[in-house]
Amino acid sequence: MTTVNCCCKELQDATGSRPALQRMVIFDWYDGPTSGILVCEECGTAYLFVMVDWDKDHELRIFSLAPLPGGSLDAVITFFQEPAKWPIWFPERLKVPTAEFRAQMDVLDRIIDCAGEPTIILAWNRSARNAVVAKYLPSELIPMVKSWFDLEDGHPLYDWFAYMGFER
Ligand SMILES: [Zn+2]
Repeated sequence: MTTVNCCCKELQDATGSRPALQRMVIFDWYDGPTSGILVCEECGTAYLFVMVDWDKDHELRIFSLAPLPGGSLDAVITFFQEPAKWPIWFPERLKVPTAEFRAQMDVLDRIIDCAGEPTIILAWNRSARNAVVAKYLPSELIPMVKSWFDLEDGHPLYDWFAYMGFER
């Protein structure tokens, strides 16, 4: 078992290695992170992540990752106006948002809106608090990516567990 951390740009060679997507800013929480930003420690690329599926215990979460423009992470840190707590940071201002802070949320929305199409699907373990495995998302599957919370009946449009090699 190797502990090499694999850059998001070299996932095809990732057999036996852990994705270097480690630092996380949490935007939404349901028993654990459901959306936010993940940063590749090897190349510094920041991704907007959205949960597309989870297991029944809410332990193993499947995220879609869409690249954000350079500078997005700094913009987010500036926006929250509090010291970032790495590797996993749930900003205090989001945990207990004031009315004044809610009124500023469009600033965060504008950063999020700059994300590109999703390019990676990632399995993330809540207890271990780290990425388990990551795979590139072929462009034909982009239309299948939908936030779990936007699904009509809780059934994802695609079997992401099978795609990542997990049984449900
Ligand atoms: Zn990378």
